[in-house]
Amino acid sequence: MSPSQEPSALDWIHDELQTLDDLSLRRRLMIRESAQDPAHIQLAERRLVNFGSNDYLGFARQGLVESAMQVAQQRGWGSGASPLVTGRATEHAALEGELATFEQTEAALLFPTGYAANVGTITSLVGRGDIIFSDAKNHASIVDGCRLSGARIQTYPHLDSDCLSKLIGQASEFRRRLIVTDSLFSMDGDLAPLDHLVQIAEDHQAMLMVDEAHATGVFGEAGRGVCEHLGVESRVPVRVGTFSKALGSMGGFVVGSRPLIEWLSNRARTYFFSTAAPEAIAAAGRAALRLVQDEPGRRVNLLRQAESLRQRLQDDGWQVGRSASQIIPVLIGQPDLTLRLADQLREEGFFVPGIRPPSVPAGESLLRISVSFAHTSDMLQALAEALARCRSTG
Ligand SMILES: *Cc1c(COP(=O)(O)O)cnc(C)c1O
Repeated sequence: MSPSQEPSALDWIHDELQTLDDLSLRRRLMIRESAQDPAHIQLAERRLVNFGSNDYLGFARQGLVESAMQVAQQRGWGSGASPLVTGRATEHAALEGELATFEQTEAALLFPTGYAANVGTITSLVGRGDIIFSDAKNHASIVDGCRLSGARIQTYPHLDSDCLSKLIGQASEFRRRLIVTDSLFSMDGDLAPLDHLVQIAEDHQAMLMVDEAHATGVFGEAGRGVCEHLGVESRVPVRVGTFSKALGSMGGFVVGSRPLIEWLSNRARTYFFSTAAPEAIAAAGRAALRLVQDEPGRRVNLLRQAESLRQRLQDDGWQVGRSASQIIPVLIGQPDLTLRLADQLREEGFFVPGIRPPSVPAGESLLRISVSFAHTSDMLQALAEALARCRSTG
C-alpha cells in the first residue's frame, strides 16, 4: 500500500474540499506576479486592470518605501519582543504620538494588525455578564472578538438603529453594554448610521466602538474617517483603524482616552502576546499619516470617481446596494454566477474579485469593485462597458 492510500485522520479534508468545489465556494490561492499597484495587476502572466486592491490612495508604492528603508537600515528589521517587553521602540512611540494628534485623541495604541486590534479591544472591554450589540455585517475580526470575549452577543440587522434601540432597551440587567460597528462596511461599501448610534449609546450608557478600517484616509475633510465625516468623533470613545488599507502599509491601531489605552496595553492579549512590528513598519505609518495630511486632493478625487462609476453602473441596471464609498458591490446572489462573471471580466482584462460565503451571507455573493485614486476615468468607463457586455452574453 502506498503511503497516500493509507487511511489518515485527515482524510475528511479531501471530502470537505470536494464539497466546497461542488458549491463553487472553494478558494484558489493566486500569485500576484506584479508589484502591488492599485491600478494594474499581473496574474498568470496576464496584465489586468486591478479592482481588487484596498490601497485606495496609491500610497503603498509612493512615499512610504523610502521612510521604511531608511529606518530599516538604521534600526534593523525584527523588533525582538512583545511591545511590553522590549519590542516597543522610538518609532512606535513616535507613531502613536502622531496618530493621537492626527485623530485628536489623548492616546493611541499600535497592534500588529487591524484584526488583532479588534479582537484585543473587544475582549478587553467586555466579558461574562456583559452584552455586545453587533451589526450583522461587521467584519470577521469583530465577530471573532465578540465570540472570544465570552459576553452575550446580540446581532442586530444591518444598519438598523431602530431595532438596536429596542434590543438595548431590554438589556439593562447586564453589567456593561458595548455597541460595535464598522463605519464603512468592507463588502457593501455603505456607512453605519453613526449619528443614531452615538445617541443610542449615550441614552443607554453603552460603550461605542467604531472600526474605521476602510475609511481612514478616505472619509472626512482631514481624512480621519466616517466619524469625522458625520461630525460625531468626540462621541465615539473607542475608535479602531488600520494602516493596511488606504494608508498603504500594515498594522492596526486604537485611539481614545488615556485610560482606555492604558487598559488595553494591560489587558489586550493580541497586544502583549504578539511581537511588535519592525520599526520600519512604524516609519511607513508615519509617512502615510503625513501623506494623508499633505494630499487631501486624493481622497476628494477618489470619492468623486467612485460616485461616477456607481452612477453609471446603476444606470446600466446593476444593483449596487447602498454603497456610498470607494467600495462598490455589484450584487449577484449565487456564487457560481458570481465566479462566471469574474472570469468573464478577467477575459476582458479586468480583475474584480468575486466575493462568496463566508465573506458574505449565503445568497449574497457579489463582485467587489475597489476604486482607487490611481484609476483613470477611462479605466472606470471600460469596466462598466465590459460588465455590460457580460450581461448581454451571460
Ligand atoms: C481589513 C479589515 C480589518 C482587519 O485589518 P487588517 O489590518 O487587515 O488586519 C478590520 N476591520 C475591517 C472592517 C476590515 O475591513
